[in-house]
Amino acid sequence: MRKQFIAGNWKMNLTLEDAKGLARKLYDGLKGSDKVDVGVFPSFVFLKEVCDILSNSKVFIGAQNMSMEKSGAFTGEISGSMLRDVGCTHVLIGHSERRTIYQETNSIINSKLKAALLNDLSPILCVGEKQEERDAGKTREVVKNQLSEGLLNLTSEQVKRLTIAYEPVWAIGTGKTATPEQANEVHAFIRDTMRDKYDDDTAQRIRIQYGGSVNAENAKQLLGQPEIDGALVGGASLDSNSFLDIVSDAASFS
Ligand code: PEP
Repeated sequence: MRKQFIAGNWKMNLTLEDAKGLARKLYDGLKGSDKVDVGVFPSFVFLKEVCDILSNSKVFIGAQNMSMEKSGAFTGEISGSMLRDVGCTHVLIGHSERRTIYQETNSIINSKLKAALLNDLSPILCVGEKQEERDAGKTREVVKNQLSEGLLNLTSEQVKRLTIAYEPVWAIGTGKTATPEQANEVHAFIRDTMRDKYDDDTAQRIRIQYGGSVNAENAKQLLGQPEIDGALVGGASLDSNSFLDIVSDAASFS
């Protein structure tokens, strides 16, 4: 059975004091619970402080993005080894905001995944279709392409370190979630694609999170679906009570 994994993407939000306060509340609220894997993804500049606060906990800390390059003249970029240095174990790759606002292609995402794995970081690869793609009946085609180009030349051993987050773009930050059935159907398709591309063991092991307007009110229904192994939470992860409620909902399925 796959352990549920709830991750909070703090995006470009919070002050340093707010981020530290939120991390402390999560530390207190999660004490002694390890039924669910929990991770937070603060802004780069808050990573060190958040890592320090959560260092005695089981909470994973990750960055929201990273460079595909090792080091050198890449002004403004952050490498995988820098993320390891400050205590990160995880990294989000290919979030839809990176794909759409910063034009990250599947090929860039593939290079970033390889760089993350080389640095022993566990990536969460985000995939998902836009509203017009869903309306045109292209959800499977889009997601399959994101997986086949994004995972190009990765071995099953490497892929086993990944989490995939299915995040329909139309559901991110819109208050409009996929229905549990809609989400479960795409998750099952992702798992089938992984089985075809790799093998049954890899497909069964990989965790597939749902993301897109998950909150304390709708989490239980989504997380109760057989193919949904957790959630990538944006807005609701900024409020400790909401986020902890979502973690408790996930624990009820572990
Ligand atoms: C996200 O940014 O990954 C996300 C799912 O955001 P929200 O929960 O706010 O829709």
